[in-house]
Amino acid sequence: MATAMETRPQQKASSEAATEKKRWTLSDFDIGKPLGRGKFGHVYVAKEKRSNHVVALKVLFKSQLKQSQVEHQLRREVEIQSHLRHPNILRLYGYFYDQQRVYLILEYAAKGELYKELQKFKCFTERRSATYVASLARALIYCHGKHVIHRDIKPENLLIGSQGELKIADFGWSVHTFSRRRTMCGTLDYLPPEMVESLEHDASVDIWSLGILCYEFLYGAPPFEAEEHSDTYRRIRQVDLKFPSKPVVSAAAKDLISQMLVKDTSKRLPLHKLLEHPWIVQNADPSGVYRSG
Ligand code: ATP
Ligand code: MG
Repeated sequence: MATAMETRPQQKASSEAATEKKRWTLSDFDIGKPLGRGKFGHVYVAKEKRSNHVVALKVLFKSQLKQSQVEHQLRREVEIQSHLRHPNILRLYGYFYDQQRVYLILEYAAKGELYKELQKFKCFTERRSATYVASLARALIYCHGKHVIHRDIKPENLLIGSQGELKIADFGWSVHTFSRRRTMCGTLDYLPPEMVESLEHDASVDIWSLGILCYEFLYGAPPFEAEEHSDTYRRIRQVDLKFPSKPVVSAAAKDLISQMLVKDTSKRLPLHKLLEHPWIVQNADPSGVYRSG
């Protein structure tokens, strides 16, 4: 599919057209059933007519994007997500727009939202949790290697592919740690230590979120949950981490979580070390795919 969508013949044969990216329009797609509805529009399953490839078409209303002043954020999301290629990151194949709407052509995640699975099962087994955490770690290592920090890892932003593989889906809060200009200049040689450090520094927010997520998979709720916002805030600040006696969770899992939820950003377990942690090694399915039963 990737090739079918990417090597679409150009309408014009001029050299300008050859370097131009393919232009999509709504008429390239057969629209199917609605998959869901977001803040700014709707998502439909759709079939690209030439390749017969099934995608998810996210339709956003320009007026609502303007009203909420998120055009800039959307642009960044598209810019970042369209350049990422990883089995655990939802592909963004392209976009187009008309008078009223912006359309995002997304990889179709056939098994829907992880959030719903978690609601259904309350919490996941250690095998399933470890498999998900390992695949997310791999996806985040890939992102961080491209200087992209996700910053919004949570169940609502994770979708499940047809094989049961996890897909990071929402890059609305992600950032490129270097400006476009700097990236294009290409060299890091002139960067001062505080900027080189802040690169890793910032990426560690994703380690923290992954620790929260790992806890939530195993216990069914995030660790610092509280009735009042102010209490959650305090608990996070103090890293008031408690492991309930039920459900029963292995010591190895708790050890891993404790190494991720560390206040000092430089002391959080690096993601490549996470992949070597005994709990991951013993529980994660090496294929990255969780198979029930
Ligand atoms: P927002 O991001 O605006 O807060 P949201 O995340 O709930 O809202 P969308 O990302 O627009 O909304 O998606 C709405 C719903 O459509 C999702 O919750 C999901 O169920 C479904 N959906 C979105 N993208 C896909 C996809 N690529 N494959 C399958 N289902 C999808
Ligand atoms: Mg979303």
